[in-house]
Amino acid sequence: MTTLQIAPPRPQPKAFNHISYSAISTFQTCPLRFMFKYVLGLPVTTISSSLVFGSAMHQAVQFHFEQLLIGRPTPDLDTLLGVYQDYWETCDGQAVLFGAGEDRDALGRMADRLLRTFQQSQFAQPRGTILGIEEELRGQVVPGCPDLLARVDLIVDAGSELLVSDFKTARCSWSDDKVDDIAPQLLLYSELVKPIADGRPVKLSFAVLTKTKLPVLTVHDVPNDHQQVERTKRTVENIWRAIQSGHFFPNPGPMQCGSCSYREPCQRWAG
Ligand code: SF4
Repeated sequence: MTTLQIAPPRPQPKAFNHISYSAISTFQTCPLRFMFKYVLGLPVTTISSSLVFGSAMHQAVQFHFEQLLIGRPTPDLDTLLGVYQDYWETCDGQAVLFGAGEDRDALGRMADRLLRTFQQSQFAQPRGTILGIEEELRGQVVPGCPDLLARVDLIVDAGSELLVSDFKTARCSWSDDKVDDIAPQLLLYSELVKPIADGRPVKLSFAVLTKTKLPVLTVHDVPNDHQQVERTKRTVENIWRAIQSGHFFPNPGPMQCGSCSYREPCQRWAG
């Protein structure tokens, strides 16, 4: 029997009243994936385990800092693992794509190792006063583009400066080139944080926890360089022009397609 292949609908121009760094980054990775997710809003039928794992870890780390913010004692490992597991429950009903030799129990054991490493790190006990956790900030960073909407993982008032951190889990330690590639996220966030810095410098960093047998948490500072901020803004401006002109095309590659939730509509896409 022949199965009728129906192509996804052609996109209608969509009014964006805001855009996130995640959307910008998705467009850079694959413009067609951006179209499926942010223009057509196609439902996600599968989700990669690394995405669920990263989000669950984020929830646990967020909970840790929330307890510090409200003056409670540092939560113990079992409590953080409980938060991690609770996040997995919210994904019930979704088809999670696990990697080879991977399952939820194995990831749970990895979460145990990573959260221990996190708890023992200096990053877990920030110097200064916590001002925001998963703080939602919004504003026009690039003239002519929609507002940038950001959720900033951690903002700390260290007296003479404001510390802005983003937490990531990664397969291995980040190289300097990798930090440079991801730096635009924090450079854009720094523009949104400026008004609350009250003229003080904004120090940017990624805290990267490796998903290795012996996990390591490394803090990578990102120079808050004016020239790089302007370069990032021009990149966003050009991406926004491409989005507005409906310039969507597939950008296949092993890194992005393996974890893509839109493989089916991508195959059916007829241009
Ligand atoms: S499968 Fe690959 S090419 Fe197709 S939308 Fe996803 S990332 Fe893009």
